[in-house]
Amino acid sequence: MSDIIVIGAGTAGMTAALYALRNGKSVTVLEEETFGGQIANSPRVENFPTIKEISGSDFADKLFEQITALGAEVELEKALSVEKKGKGFLVKTEYAEREAKSVILAAGVKHKHLRFPNEEELTGNGISYCAICDGPFYTGEEVALVGDGNTALQYGILLSGYCPKVYVYTLFDRFFGDESLVKTLLSKKNVVWKPNTSLTEYLGKDKLEGFRYKNAEGKIEEHRISALFVAIGQVPDNKKFENLVALDKEGYIAADETCETSCEGVFAAGDCRAKKIRQLTTAAADGAVAALGACAYIDKNF
Ligand SMILES: Cc1cc2nc3c(=O)[nH]c(=O)nc-3n(C[C@H](O)[C@H](O)[C@H](O)COP(=O)(O)OP(=O)(O)OC[C@H]3O[C@@H](n4cnc5c(N)ncnc54)[C@H](O)[C@@H]3O)c2cc1C
Repeated sequence: MSDIIVIGAGTAGMTAALYALRNGKSVTVLEEETFGGQIANSPRVENFPTIKEISGSDFADKLFEQITALGAEVELEKALSVEKKGKGFLVKTEYAEREAKSVILAAGVKHKHLRFPNEEELTGNGISYCAICDGPFYTGEEVALVGDGNTALQYGILLSGYCPKVYVYTLFDRFFGDESLVKTLLSKKNVVWKPNTSLTEYLGKDKLEGFRYKNAEGKIEEHRISALFVAIGQVPDNKKFENLVALDKEGYIAADETCETSCEGVFAAGDCRAKKIRQLTTAAADGAVAALGACAYIDKNF
């Protein structure tokens, strides 16, 4: 049995591990995909205090090194469920059943999908949710991007560095991200902005051949292209925890700044928690608060 199981090795989960380990607790961190979480997919971070500029993957690596050096047990395992067992908790994963005195849910969010027919078949075959991972495959080719927030802006800037043309489709005639990113993107000569448009359909069976979209005049047009990057936001993925903790109506884990959930001994940290600002600083802050809450809970009850 570990003192604490942390579900998710993103910024919130790894910061939670850091604080709990420094408080003398044993910690197991479970991660279903890549250590580092969402930020590992960001080309550049420029708003984390004390670090002027760093790549998302370097940021994630540094945090990972910090917790493993302190003795975190980190497992590449997806948590499937969490339930109460005696005084503690049972976490079932794809490979094991693990027990802990306290659990920190730091499962982040997932990419929002357009949900058009054939999406599953085309994902990885022309449709991508990560420009940093898949962008280089399209070096020298024209690509399209849909989205209007910071992620889309960052992806557009990155892709403009090695694609001759980047078409950026947005629902409205404005972006909803940092002004500095908007300016940089729109200053790129090879970026073609398509405002007031909405995608309606993917073309292609096993490989993306393009898409249809409603243009600014409401007419359906076709864009033949072999790569589309989708960056239209994120959604929570907390259903597997709803038997244990209360969720809000959007599906985020109901917990305030204390990170305490409706179940004593279970804490929620980072983007998976109901809150207004989802950033690295707020994820790290939650990680610290949740870990110290879990340590206090263990000291009181065990
Ligand atoms: C492209 C991009 C660029 C960004 N740039 C910035 C930036 O410049 N500055 C900034 O402040 N913020 C930025 N953000 C936002 C920032 O990355 C997030 O706010 C932050 O990563 C949230 O951290 P988290 O730990 O809560 O969640 P995540 O980073 O989402 O980590 C959650 C982790 O939990 C894992 N997980 C989920 N379910 C399970 C399960 N059942 N079992 C095991 N593991 C599970 C996931 O695989 C993931 O690794 C960016 C986001 C993106 C996508």
